[in-house]
Amino acid sequence: MIDHLSASQINLYLQCGLKYKYQYLDQLPKPFRSSALVFGSALHSTLEWFHQQRMSGSTVTLEKLYQIFDADWYSQRIDAEIHFKEGEKEMNLLNMGREMLTIYLQQEHHKVKGCEIPFTVPLVSSTTGDELGIALLGFFDLIEEDGTIVEFKTSAIALSASDIDSRLQLSAYSYAYQLLYRKPSKGIRVVDFVKAKKPKIVAIETERTKSDHLGFLHTAQEVLHGIKSNVFVPRQGFWCKECEYSDICPMTKGKKAMMTAESLSVAV
Ligand code: SF4
Repeated sequence: MIDHLSASQINLYLQCGLKYKYQYLDQLPKPFRSSALVFGSALHSTLEWFHQQRMSGSTVTLEKLYQIFDADWYSQRIDAEIHFKEGEKEMNLLNMGREMLTIYLQQEHHKVKGCEIPFTVPLVSSTTGDELGIALLGFFDLIEEDGTIVEFKTSAIALSASDIDSRLQLSAYSYAYQLLYRKPSKGIRVVDFVKAKKPKIVAIETERTKSDHLGFLHTAQEVLHGIKSNVFVPRQGFWCKECEYSDICPMTKGKKAMMTAESLSVAV
């Protein structure tokens, strides 16, 4: 049925099991992409390019960074329609991205071991240590020379330290690092690009212990059990607003039909 899981798949299953099924098992096409996803993806691609240039000793200009960001943004527009939030304008988001890149370029940068490093490690039982027969797949955004894992995020409101401390994805990455490099990471730094009126970049340090790894493995095992048992519980929340499947989801389809009927009766 499935041969791997990623941290984002596990997170999606926990957020809404039905969306996980639509996206990863049924592989239904997405009729649109949210502006938040497009923005995050364009920023990630630009940062990856920036760090690759640094590693090869090339000089990076701000203009070139802007070009990479814009090119990635527009290439995503070719594949899918972008859904903007109310009041959001494409040009404002592009300008915000450029402003963030300007701030980032001016910051101090540590020596880099690698960027966009793929990993595949076995998932094991948190109690027996036996392999579950399924791999954990993912990418490290960046690993610094001293062994610090760096994860880039974009957010509308700055992430808090407690938010970062409880992120399952970071426990997964710390677990993967330990298996790949046969030693614990030096630490984890989340670099949060905050899409505020005045954009800013906030770096938050965190770390993970063996008990966090076991907690992650326990969660992954339960999620795997749910998937194998065909349990895909829909879970409504603020995330439904940006869900690409809201037109077919039984939880929101009915509501839309009801709203249309209500607006029609008001119009009559
Ligand atoms: S609309 Fe909400 S409940 Fe339905 S699949 Fe999407 S996220 Fe899940």
